[in-house]
Amino acid sequence: MKAAILVIGDEILSGNVQDTNSSFAARLLFENNISVAHILAVADTEQAIKEGIKYLFTKADIVISSGGLGPTRDDVTKTAIVSYFNTELVFDQAIYDDLTDRYTRSGRPLNTLNSDQAMVPSNAEIVRNDVGTAPIFWIEQGEKVLVTLPGVPSEMRHMFEKILLPRIVEQFGSGKISRIILQVIGIPESDLAMKLVEVENQIEAASNENEQYKLAYLPSMGTIRLQIIGSGDDSTKIENNINNFKEQILSKAGKYIYAEGDEGISTYIGKILREEQATVSTAESCTGGYLAHLITSVSGSSDYYLGSIISYANEVKTKEFGVSESTLEKFGAVSEETCREMVSGCLKKFNTTYAVVTTGIAGPTGDTDGKPVGLVWIGVGNKDNMIISSFQFRRNRIENIHLFAMSALDMLRKFAVGVD
Ligand code: ATP
Ligand code: MG
Repeated sequence: MKAAILVIGDEILSGNVQDTNSSFAARLLFENNISVAHILAVADTEQAIKEGIKYLFTKADIVISSGGLGPTRDDVTKTAIVSYFNTELVFDQAIYDDLTDRYTRSGRPLNTLNSDQAMVPSNAEIVRNDVGTAPIFWIEQGEKVLVTLPGVPSEMRHMFEKILLPRIVEQFGSGKISRIILQVIGIPESDLAMKLVEVENQIEAASNENEQYKLAYLPSMGTIRLQIIGSGDDSTKIENNINNFKEQILSKAGKYIYAEGDEGISTYIGKILREEQATVSTAESCTGGYLAHLITSVSGSSDYYLGSIISYANEVKTKEFGVSESTLEKFGAVSEETCREMVSGCLKKFNTTYAVVTTGIAGPTGDTDGKPVGLVWIGVGNKDNMIISSFQFRRNRIENIHLFAMSALDMLRKFAVGVD
């Protein structure tokens, strides 16, 4: 069974809006073992939408569209559907009552544009939009299905993930699916793949007519989600097998894997610090507060995070953390020695269990004294111990800053849980 995604919107074709809806849907379909054969973006015209549906129905069993469902004149998905399926728009009293109710409760009158939302294709099954006013259509024609989603990303995501996906999986998914996600940090994708060659061979060899297994690498900057998927009819067997693959992966690359499931690194760190009843503070130079932002993105971080000083200028490193002027002069701001003194100073200043420090060159300018752009020194310490490491990245400024901060979080993780 295959799916296809039809992205509808002039704003996508003009490049004014980045299409995130299709990647969101494609990722969830992929995770549920439904392969996406095509993603097609078309203009807000009846003809383009009809041609899109027609083409994608030749490639897939289910077509999921996004956009053009609103009440304004530029949204023509509904009329295109009616024309494509050769049906008509009919008035739906239940939707009308629902709309009236929603508008009354929000204190606004229902105008004719809004009430037009109650006109729906006669061949559509209506799925109530919990988070917006445009109803969603589930239309079946023979073996094929068209599902229309609104373009607004928050609406689209909610409705797709929570309401439609379970139904799509049930109707189009192949057998039972088991899935394990492992969160990886601190290792490039290719190095990880090298460590997992044997496991990957085994995963491939375990697949047969009745059961299929896949290992997917889903990298984003600084982290990788490693996904083991198994599908087939014998769910116990599949679960046993993917658990076995997981154990093998852990034995080969366990120190880079910090969690199972969908936990982000900042959340994980929060969890271990809370368990340990530990606190942390940060001294940031090149990351300019971004590390603090990542830590404080987690709700409840005030339980363990005390604060940061952005010591961007050398004077601030000296004044706030007592970094000696001679160290700065002799070794420079981006150096192991300065980093070390910042860790000590930060621990003293904030009196936290741990201190995390960054000092580096985000670029694109600023390479000095044989120190290249993308170099960062990161330090983590407590009252007894300190680890100072350098990393070298080769991205643009914003990406380097992100990678510096992710490396700092990873160093804190390893330091706190005692992994080398
Ligand atoms: P509305 O009821 O708001 O009119 P709609 O279904 O008609 O919803 P659109 O008008 O096409 O949706 O888009 C609404 C908003 O969602 C716009 O701001 C648009 O930029 C954004 N959007 C549309 N399609 C996508 C997409 N594929 N990816 C990301 N954003 C999108
Ligand atoms: Mg639109």
